[in-house]
Amino acid sequence: MIQAKGYAAQNAETDLAPWGFERREVGPHDVQLEILYCGVCHSDLHQIKNDWFPGLFPMVPGHEIVGRVIKVGDHVKNFKVDDLAGVGCMVDSCQVCENCKEGLEQYCLEGNTQTYNNLDRSGVPTYGGYSNTIVVREEFVLHISDKLSLAATAPLLCAGITTYSPLRHWKVGKGHKLAILGLGGLGHMGVKFGVAFGADVTVLSTSPSKEAAAKALGAHHFVVTSDPAQLEAVKGSFDFILDTVSAEHDMNLYLSLLKTNGTHICVGAPSEPMSIHTFSLLLGRRSVAGSGIGGIKETQEMLDFCAEHNIVSDIEIIDIKNITAAYERMLKGDVRYRFVIDMATL
Ligand code: NAP
Ligand code: ZN
Repeated sequence: MIQAKGYAAQNAETDLAPWGFERREVGPHDVQLEILYCGVCHSDLHQIKNDWFPGLFPMVPGHEIVGRVIKVGDHVKNFKVDDLAGVGCMVDSCQVCENCKEGLEQYCLEGNTQTYNNLDRSGVPTYGGYSNTIVVREEFVLHISDKLSLAATAPLLCAGITTYSPLRHWKVGKGHKLAILGLGGLGHMGVKFGVAFGADVTVLSTSPSKEAAAKALGAHHFVVTSDPAQLEAVKGSFDFILDTVSAEHDMNLYLSLLKTNGTHICVGAPSEPMSIHTFSLLLGRRSVAGSGIGGIKETQEMLDFCAEHNIVSDIEIIDIKNITAAYERMLKGDVRYRFVIDMATL
């Protein structure tokens, strides 16, 4: 076994702290990475706090992983030692169901294997990227360009693909009015992709202080959602709302901002169910949809698109010892726009 070190939560009540654990040996189809940076997603916080479901502890979070290949198995075809590489939210899937065959491994009919807080297909717990090394089967490892800042590329592995995939699926682009609801890690990537695809982009935010930054990211308009006059002015005006909010919110209010035939796409994952009044949908033939991360092929396509168009995340690099303080700031919406752990501080 490979001896690894990382930061783990021992249960849902404790803060993350240093922890030593084992990873499997590199098998014939595996790639081993030295992890250099790992992004901090709100999903990490949801999971260590058992927000969604009882987690598997000890838990090493982290699914926005970038690093360098240090070992490859004998049958690995597409990676060699010293390559830059990344790992996102999944490390395995059945590979044979109709969704996997279509490149939609995130919707694997047997369930994909999550990078952490999950059991792998042999029943061993998975541990995420707040650690020095990881072993992953080749099919779930992504190529990372050396043209972009490596640290700022890490959040693309989750925040990036989670916003890119639905915008591509619904073919959002020129002629569309797109609202990004919530300007955090996912939201700011949604702005960048929406602008890159040619949409007219409005940020809907609870934080008036984010207006200048939203415009700097490329947003064309900014609406403070606590201001009734500003909301009234955009009623019935959007083709799409990309909802990245991490906590419960008033769906009926936001649905009223959609045009006829508009679509509200949920990517944020609040722990509690939210109620929708039927009238919010039938008056205007509106739809509510959801989207989960993206498949491996599409994640590589997104990474290549970002390399070509010089798109990365806006980040604040942190020392892993400050992870608990970073979570507290994330909960207050005080992050511009993604914390990334420098794994040299482990
Ligand atoms: P984040 O950086 O904390 O951003 C969330 C933003 O939502 C905040 O910055 C804030 O923006 C807004 N917000 C927070 N609480 C709110 C409230 N009560 N009412 C209205 N707005 C509120 O989080 P993230 O990492 O982007 O993740 C966002 C959500 O997506 C999380 O639930 C996460 O688990 C989920 N997620 C889903 C997928 C998927 O596959 N679908 C993948 C990754 C993450 P303003 O200050 O602008 O209001
Ligand atoms: Zn995530």
